[in-house]
Amino acid sequence: MRRAVCPGSFDPVTLGHLDIISRASALYDEVIVAVGMNASKNRMFTLEERIAMLQEATTQYGNVSVDSFDGLIVDFCKAHSIQVIVKGLRAISDFDYELQMAQMNHGLAGIETLFMTTNPLYSFLSSSLVKEVATYGGDVSGLVPEAAGRRLIERVKTPQN
Ligand code: ADP
Repeated sequence: MRRAVCPGSFDPVTLGHLDIISRASALYDEVIVAVGMNASKNRMFTLEERIAMLQEATTQYGNVSVDSFDGLIVDFCKAHSIQVIVKGLRAISDFDYELQMAQMNHGLAGIETLFMTTNPLYSFLSSSLVKEVATYGGDVSGLVPEAAGRRLIERVKTPQN
């Protein structure tokens, strides 16, 4: 059984994330999308909301499930018998940090990292930019899955904090 993880914050999930998740699901028997609990970043959505949005967006993939993780991703990998971390690379600016993390994770636990080049349609797309567009009333359809777009518009209208 070849199992991969797609880790991230997914605040919220974007079509760029979904593209990487769907391509990973074609390569591995099982893909687990792991949502980081890391509270240090300023989040628009709670962990539960981020998980729900990912579940809504991945129901069409029979071999994709959604979970959360706290602490090191390599510990999550060991606990779930995952051999590979799949990450998307948007631009050279992503590479520096991703390279360090991949080398650290291999050094810590022998976990491999597979980098997929982003679909050029989504190379400009990040969760933080999507939040900014939504905050100022811009159109986010075509950037995030439909259900996530609805939640985003709702949250902008009634901020939680
Ligand atoms: P973080 O908050 O750690 O930057 P994200 O939750 O935004 O991470 O994204 C998780 C991972 O998804 C990123 O590390 C990156 O590999 C991938 N990713 C994000 N946006 C895109 C995109 N537009 N195209 C391809 N991969 C992406």
